[in-house]
Amino acid sequence: MIFNVLTLFPEFIDGIKEHSIIKRAIEKGIVTINSINYRDYSSNKHKKVDDYPYGGGAGMLIGPQPIDTCIRENDLDKDSFIIYMSPKGKTLSQKLVNELKLKDNLTIICGHYEGLDQRIIDKHVDMEVSIGDYVLTGGEIPAMVLIDSVARLIPDVLSKEESHQEESHSNHLLEHPHYTRPSVYEEMKVPEVLLSGNHKKIDQWRFEQSVIETYNKRPELIDSYMKDKKIDEKSKKTVIDILKTIANS
Ligand code: SAM
Repeated sequence: MIFNVLTLFPEFIDGIKEHSIIKRAIEKGIVTINSINYRDYSSNKHKKVDDYPYGGGAGMLIGPQPIDTCIRENDLDKDSFIIYMSPKGKTLSQKLVNELKLKDNLTIICGHYEGLDQRIIDKHVDMEVSIGDYVLTGGEIPAMVLIDSVARLIPDVLSKEESHQEESHSNHLLEHPHYTRPSVYEEMKVPEVLLSGNHKKIDQWRFEQSVIETYNKRPELIDSYMKDKKIDEKSKKTVIDILKTIANS
């Protein structure tokens, strides 16, 4: 999968290419990340990219020319799905990440200052994506969040040990707690069932804990689980039984 990141700070984006799972995916040839500085495409003799907003107001705006030229000269308007990282966009969720992982080629535009001239958005952008209801100084950190969340779902990016099956948000519910060695640490014991070797009981315990975690930390996700038509009635009944047990305890 190819990610093209249009940014004024390519060194930010280059940072994620150097470490851990993304680095390994690039080395295996599964993921390519091209960071492109749109300042290089400015026709201004001082390579200026920003200007004052029409109508007045605080802050500077990134003008249309550098990004437009950058997109055209790199042929990104042909085969790439173009995203603008923006606090006004659709909020990034695991559902959206799952949709984006199906694209072969994503272009991500990072804004700065007050953002982009609207004509660039109207002409080129297929989707605006936000990483949450708060405002950051630039689109680079949001772009890194998007790349990391999408790249780890691409087949063979994660090893078997790093599997994303049953993770939080994969089926609305939050993940159950995890434990590793030692089995007793400062008198705190790992739950007995995890040491039992009985995988049916372990699966039941994990599902129960997953429901309890969700109920305690994000109760609204239980509603989404119950409303999801793809989830079978037997699992929903189990969730109701677990919730009844919590209520009675
Ligand atoms: N004036 C803009 C507004 O009120 O919507 C905010 C501009 S922000 C200071 C500068 C850039 O940071 C944006 O163009 C966008 O690329 C990025 N950005 C800031 N917050 C973001 C968020 N929550 N999600 C995605 N991108 C964000």
